[in-house]
Amino acid sequence: MNAFQKNIPDQTFETLNRQGDFTRLVISPGIINKHYTPAQFQTIAEVVGERGAIKYSASYSLLLAIPTSDVKEAIYTLQQAGLYIMSSGAIIAMKACDFCDGEKMEAAPITEQLYHTLEGVTVPARVRVNINGCASACYNAVYDDIGLVYQQDSFDVYLGAVPMGAKAQAGTLFAKRVAVAKIEVFVQHIIQLYQTYARPNEPFYKFYRRTKSDDFWQRLSRNNH
Ligand code: SF4
Repeated sequence: MNAFQKNIPDQTFETLNRQGDFTRLVISPGIINKHYTPAQFQTIAEVVGERGAIKYSASYSLLLAIPTSDVKEAIYTLQQAGLYIMSSGAIIAMKACDFCDGEKMEAAPITEQLYHTLEGVTVPARVRVNINGCASACYNAVYDDIGLVYQQDSFDVYLGAVPMGAKAQAGTLFAKRVAVAKIEVFVQHIIQLYQTYARPNEPFYKFYRRTKSDDFWQRLSRNNH
């Protein structure tokens, strides 16, 4: 019965934005881990307090509206509680599945390595790199800008997804079986092409669709083999 009950707090993100100066924080327990501890939930509730708001997003995160004057302290407290705060803007943002609650961790080390190399790199428009740990791809890697699907010491690489909207569409398979040892350089190369040839603010899928028959993509695909 609760599924459709009206349960909207007085403060929604919309009403808060009309009322005053609030900052939105995007938080999660980590890139791979999807479990919050009760203590983390308590910290989140305390940080948001009576004045802010909490809601969940469509991309494995909680969104917090915090009075802008309190944001610096809020970030410190949330990070001390072990929470990850996602940066906003035109950067590379990393996503991953939870590797079956940590039971299927073969691709976890390379995921962490890619995170350290790529997260936060500046690009013409925000790029989501989503790594899934097996061919089930149950965290929808193929629906993000760069989808990496792990199987047997390699990744299938999907590009060009339209993640949302009436024309939402999965990406297409760009490269098959890119070895784990090569994937970091391979993805960096994709990013470099985007940084070099994209128009200002051009989303990744538009860039890829506009240029996909250009030589530089074919060269990259050939070099992988
Ligand atoms: S994509 Fe595969 S490894 Fe990742 S959570 Fe789903 S089933 Fe598990």
